Amino acid sequence: MSVDTTIVSQCLHCKNARCQAACPIHTDIPKVIEWVQQGKESQAQQYLFDHNFFSAICAIVCDHSRQCYGHCILNFKNDPVPFYQLEAALSLDYLRHYHPMVQPSNQKSVAIIGAGPAGMTVAFKLACRGYTIDLYDKHEQMGGVLRYGIPDFRLDKTIVDQYQRILLECGICFHGSTIVDPVMVKTIAAMHDDLIYANGAWIARKLGQGDELPFVYSALDVLENHIHFDSNQKIIVLGGGNVAMDAVRHCHRDSPNTLLYYRKQIADMPANPDEIQAVKDEGIEIHELAAPVRFVDSPQNGIIFSKGETLIDEKGKKYTRMVEGSEYFVACDIAISAISQSVDDTLWKDDGLTIHEDGSTSDPHVYVIGDALLKPATVVEAVNSVNNILKYFD
Ligand SMILES: Cc1cc2nc3c(=O)[nH]c(=O)nc-3n(C[C@H](O)[C@H](O)[C@H](O)COP(=O)(O)OP(=O)(O)OC[C@H]3O[C@@H](n4cnc5c(N)ncnc54)[C@H](O)[C@@H]3O)c2cc1C
Ligand code: SF4
Repeated sequence: MSVDTTIVSQCLHCKNARCQAACPIHTDIPKVIEWVQQGKESQAQQYLFDHNFFSAICAIVCDHSRQCYGHCILNFKNDPVPFYQLEAALSLDYLRHYHPMVQPSNQKSVAIIGAGPAGMTVAFKLACRGYTIDLYDKHEQMGGVLRYGIPDFRLDKTIVDQYQRILLECGICFHGSTIVDPVMVKTIAAMHDDLIYANGAWIARKLGQGDELPFVYSALDVLENHIHFDSNQKIIVLGGGNVAMDAVRHCHRDSPNTLLYYRKQIADMPANPDEIQAVKDEGIEIHELAAPVRFVDSPQNGIIFSKGETLIDEKGKKYTRMVEGSEYFVACDIAISAISQSVDDTLWKDDGLTIHEDGSTSDPHVYVIGDALLKPATVVEAVNSVNNILKYFD
């Protein structure tokens, strides 16, 4: 392949590169750029793939403005290096042509629960080392949030298909449409040498009052099941993270009367700044400092909010609190909650398992990776969590 190197030509090849330090998986950005500039594109491609299995997807969905791009030394000249564009070109091309080389069987088997980026990465790495892999997922296909969360308008699912193809070419046995429960997991564990939990964070946090009302949905449910609404419905999405941004943009495609409400200021939103910008660019109204209190269906469907105010504590730290007595009602036809997710730990809860920071546990044959370990995190962090446990395998 030949890539356009002009997009990174200003790179200074810094010795202690700030871009690399700010990358959660510490990709050697100056080295990759150097290789490409020397015409060694295949070396750059192979390094990216070996270093970060989901490099082709991280190049698209990572929060570049808070990571490599945002930390490039050339920000001071307003000319940061858009490395992620180069990474996307290199990694997408590599993926399309890649066929795995698998070591002969080492007679050991591993069961993995969850085929999101964490489960798929570990499945690939161990299969290449000769492990027999059984990969279980409740969904029909592999990909986790990449396939069943992030909408098509943000991530082309044919890229996820390429990863699925590679895993199948490795000889991984994929058990799709299989919900693993606490009883089944014991049977699975007994059939394998090691067990890896990579089941993500799929429990939507509830507001606590009125969540059961029929006009209230969880954003995860809407995105996962491609739920659509009528064009004349007023839809309110609650939250300030990536899930809220994806949900509000998804709904806005159905109904122009879709609004976003967030309890703090827009500047405090944890979502990728690019995603927030995309919401604004699509003309979606954002209401900040609006903290949802409860969903109500009388006298009509809607949400009670409390006004928020931003203050500075004695240490100079900004915080937001609700203004007492400031409750107000906003009517809507559909309310969609995206106020955080948590991990379903019922699979291992009764085993008295202690989970260590690096994903190993008190049982030397059991591991936890990805969002299941890190709580809701990011794709690159899910991949990185796999790198942390590989040292425990031959
Ligand atoms: C809507 C949305 C948008 C996001 N946007 C971004 C973004 O722009 N950039 C970014 O970096 N990160 C983003 N994230 C976060 C990122 O997708 C996750 O951090 C990442 O997918 C975690 O990977 P994982 O493999 O740990 O979990 P997941 O991707 O959640 O995969 C877990 C898998 O386990 C399966 N599973 C769960 N329970 C069971 C069970 N009992 N039996 C069988 N299978 C089970 C699930 O079906 C799923 O396939 C987003 C998340 C969401 C929800
Ligand atoms: S910080 Fe910017 S200029 Fe320095 S190596 Fe990284 S991309 Fe190149």
